[in-house]
Amino acid sequence: MESQELSFTLAYFAFSLCFVFTPNEFRSAGLTVQNLFQSWLGSEDVGFIQYHVRRTSATLLVHSALPLGYYMGMCIAAPEKNLLYVHQVSTYHIYMALQSECYVTVTESRQHQFSPDLASPTEILTLRVESTNPNVKPFTISVNSSEYAEFRDKLRAPIRNSANVVIHQTISDLFLETFRAQIDLNPPYRLPRGQEVESCIGCMQTPANTKLVRLCTAADTDEDSECEQCFCRPMWCLSCLGRWFASRQDQQRPETWLSSRVPCPTCRAKFCVLDICTVG
Ligand SMILES: [Zn+2]
Ligand SMILES: [Zn+2]
Ligand SMILES: [Zn+2]
Repeated sequence: MESQELSFTLAYFAFSLCFVFTPNEFRSAGLTVQNLFQSWLGSEDVGFIQYHVRRTSATLLVHSALPLGYYMGMCIAAPEKNLLYVHQVSTYHIYMALQSECYVTVTESRQHQFSPDLASPTEILTLRVESTNPNVKPFTISVNSSEYAEFRDKLRAPIRNSANVVIHQTISDLFLETFRAQIDLNPPYRLPRGQEVESCIGCMQTPANTKLVRLCTAADTDEDSECEQCFCRPMWCLSCLGRWFASRQDQQRPETWLSSRVPCPTCRAKFCVLDICTVG
């Protein structure tokens, strides 16, 4: 256990102990179940039985929630070991596993036609999560195949495929791989001094690591189809920008995607793949 986690564990353990056995210091600070739920408990003098039934229920609820409070705190104290998934099967079951302790297997792939309007059926993958921690029971989660590539990138645990499961990547996923490879060839963009990388406004999860800089020189005979300079600050991550790029294309002609221009999602200035720089 690393020092940050150890100090959090010790502090939380001491806090929980004091909260359960409430020493005088906690009482005078008002950190008791009675005090925290004062308005809901009502008056002990007016309704003695009701007050104590409520007090016992509140105490039981708060005390039993202490381990879950610990788990959430641990995610903040040690974000690199954050929770893989919170899967609520029923009102009373929440399955959790630490990424650092788990291994994941794709066990099934099912096609669903959720809506007749959708051109292709949705592919749902079933993933079985097992943990090296004997206290964590194995559980399954469902992931849409179009989000699988991103899930695999973000997960810090190995994913295995059961021998008989075939994952049908969408054209958009396949395009994203080519798109990334092309952008890697472009020169990086250096942020001006003092400017910090913000979160991507598309997914809010990864840093906004792209900047549109007009770099292409190929002058087009048709003025309207030329690229323009975008003055937006870096706002999008590469995956979100790639998905935006793919969504603006002729879906029937994927061979034309890489060579076409699309408007910047924020200011509408046209750009091509040569104009996308990663923020270095
Ligand atoms: Zn994003
Ligand atoms: Zn722009
Ligand atoms: Zn361009």
